[in-house]
This record gives sequence, C-alpha cells and structure tokens, in this order.
Amino acid sequence: MVETKDREDLTKWAREHSWNLMTQMKEYLMQPIIIERGEGCWLYDIEGKRYFDGNASMWTNVHGHNNAELNEALKEQLGKFAHTTYVCRSNEPAVRLSAKLAEISPEGLKRVFFTNNGSTAIEAAMKMSFQYWQMMGRTEKAGAISMKGGHHGLSFGAMSVGGNEAMHGRFKQWGFNCEHFETIEELEELLEKTGRKTAFLVMEPSVQCVAGTGMKLQEPGFLKDVSTLCKKHEVHLILDEVFVGFGRTGPMFACEEEGVTPDFLCLGKGISAGYMPLGATLTNETIYEAFLGDFAEGRTFVHGHTYGGNPLATAVAHRSIEMLEARITSGAHAEGIARFEIICRKYFTHNPYVKEIRQRGFMCAVELKPIGERLGYQVCQHALDKGLLIRAYGDTILLVPPLVVNEEEMEFLCKNTSETITETIEKNETNTKGIKRAV
Ligand SMILES: *Cc1c(COP(=O)(O)O)cnc(C)c1O
Repeated sequence: MVETKDREDLTKWAREHSWNLMTQMKEYLMQPIIIERGEGCWLYDIEGKRYFDGNASMWTNVHGHNNAELNEALKEQLGKFAHTTYVCRSNEPAVRLSAKLAEISPEGLKRVFFTNNGSTAIEAAMKMSFQYWQMMGRTEKAGAISMKGGHHGLSFGAMSVGGNEAMHGRFKQWGFNCEHFETIEELEELLEKTGRKTAFLVMEPSVQCVAGTGMKLQEPGFLKDVSTLCKKHEVHLILDEVFVGFGRTGPMFACEEEGVTPDFLCLGKGISAGYMPLGATLTNETIYEAFLGDFAEGRTFVHGHTYGGNPLATAVAHRSIEMLEARITSGAHAEGIARFEIICRKYFTHNPYVKEIRQRGFMCAVELKPIGERLGYQVCQHALDKGLLIRAYGDTILLVPPLVVNEEEMEFLCKNTSETITETIEKNETNTKGIKRAV
C-alpha cells in the first residue's frame, strides 16, 4: 500500500494536473480512484481498496493483470530492446506476430499493418481502401458507408464514419461524408444508388458497442448478407473487431462465425491483452499488391505511426494470442462463456428493474428500466462501494470481465451488480422525497 504522504500527493496531483479520458472532471475529482496494482481480475487503489475489474480495463484485458507469462514475455523482450522503428525496418517480435495474425485470421488475410490503437487501425484501412481505388483508376469510388450507431474510434477519420450522435455529433462538420444504413434492405437500396461511387463499408460485426441503448446484437446471417452485397457492388468490407476480436464474443474473431473474410480486419484492445497499446490492420494480397511498384510510380502507402510495430507490444501480444489459442482449444473458453451466461441470467432475469439482458460471450449488457436520472452512472458509482469497477452506457450497465474470470468472480460481479441496481433505485425513491445524493 502507498504511504499516507504519497497518497495525499497523488490525490493532489490528480486533482491539479490530470484530465482523464472521456471524463467529466468536475464529478470525477470528488473522489479520484488511483490504481496502484493489479492481480488477476482484481485492481487495488492507493488506499489499498480492492475492486473487481468489471470492464476489463476498457475491454482490453484478456488474461488478468500481472500475469506471470505475459510479464515474462515482456521482460524477455525488454532485456533485448524496447523500440526500434518499423519504417523501412522490421523487428523480430513484430514479424513473428504478423505471421501469427495471418495464421489465426480468416484465410486470405495475409498482410499485417501495425498501428497504435483501434482508431488508427481503422484510419489505416480507410486510407488503404481510398488509395487502392485511386490507383486502380477508379477515382469515382471515393465514398464511405457505415452503420447507424457505429463506433470506430475518436480520431477525425474514425469519427467521420461513426454513427453515434453523442460521441461524434459535435465534430461532424470537420469530417468527411459517410452514408449510414441499419437494415439489409436499406443497404441494398443504398448500394444500388451509390455502390459505384463507394470505396468501402465499415462496420462492427456481431455487436455494436454504442448503438441503440448499448451493445446492440446482430442477428446471425446479417454479416454474411452485408458481405455478399459488398462483393456484388465491389465495395471493400472493413470489419472493426477492436471490441469483439480475440475471443470477447466467443470465437477468436467474430467474422469466423459467419465464414466471412473481409477485405480489411481491424484489431486493437484485446490484441495485446491490456498490456501495451497496439492496433493492427490486416488485408489480402490483392490489395497489398496494388501498392507495389517502382518508387517513381508513387504507389507507396505513405502512412504510419511512430510506435507502430513496437517490439514490447508485439511480443506481449504474441504470447497472449498463444495463451488464448490454448484456452480456446482446451474448451476452457467455451465453458467459461456457458457459465457466464447462466450466472448472468440467474442474477438479472428476476431483477424487477432490469428491462433487458443482452449477453454474447464475455459481454453482458444489462439494460435498466428508465426510472431515475443518469441511473446507469449512479449504479456504477454505488458499485464502487461493493468493490466493483464497471461502466454504463446510458441506462445500460456493461459487464465486460477479463476472459479468465472464474466462477466465483462471475458470481461476485453479477450478484453485486444486481444488488447495486436494486439498492440504487430503492434509495433513489426515498431520496426523491428528501435528500438528494451527491452522485
Ligand atoms: C475502442 C474501439 C475503437 C477505438 O479504439 P482505440 O484504441 O480507443 O482507438 C474502435 N472501434 C471499436 C469497436 C472500439 O470498441
């Protein structure tokens, strides 16, 4: 545990100097939580208070915190060197990871371009697609399509194809144009009209994180239909598996389930198990080869981020993927998911304040009845008292544990979440008669 003097300093510095991600600082600074260490699915703050990591550290964590094997992979690489550029040069762990990603991804996606995170993986795919059509002399193919409610990151290009008003609306005027669709019928109509002028369609397969009331699930067959339409209209399919990839919803990649091979597969978050920032854009040889030529032809993909292909990140990602493959092969992964589903149902089906449960793999969205103001936020604040770090999207509580969560921990997560929901609402009802809570 951190010494009292240090705790005071840290809290003071957080209050005076930090500006946290996507955070209303006025609220947060009432009681900043500063994490000091982690162990498995648990995190400990500087006060020594223990929390269950119910959002897998923003959907990144796979094998738990402070994992001995992953630490070892990182240390091993650290003993050699931490970074060297991937501009015109390669490094051993990144090359190994390229081959590994090509091996585990759908047939044909053999080429790997490394980026820093999910947003930049999307940016790279979109730029590759635009440049590809230009180089093929198809300059009319300059348009973009994405799904209503889609989320692909918060850089300007990624926001341009984003379809969430709250997250992207304010900056819309500085982005490029993009058409949106929701149903297959809408897409069919849209492509009949604009397919000829469209470079790509970008979407999250299986689960759209922030569409509708959060974690909108797609029906089986939907992705297959989108893919068929894209092929028919010669529109590149960019799949954003930044959230769903690496076993989150079950299979290694969500597109596997429908036998769909996209033109670009964008990865992030779980790729490096929550250890190091890393993103990757995978594509096929047809697209890759279009970029080959004599230097003077100007076909080079003049794009890249400084830390792309970072050896520490790629080394730890490689080890994580090997461990995940073993979990999937042994059946432990599928067993865990089956158990998670049962435990989610056990605690939320009968909670009178729950409107709907949307569960897929190690993701469970618990949508609450619209009862109180900022109810989702309030529930997450109260959950802290029970040792739970969880997040909500509107009035939907999102449970996204590390993939190695065990049965006892699932019970802890779901039981405490359900109790917190009930207590928050029932307290709220009394509070409306009298005192208003601080949160
Ligand atoms: C998180 C996320 C992104 C953005 O990834 P960053 O690493 O935050 O840039 C893109 N798409 C989806 C589906 C995501 O969940």
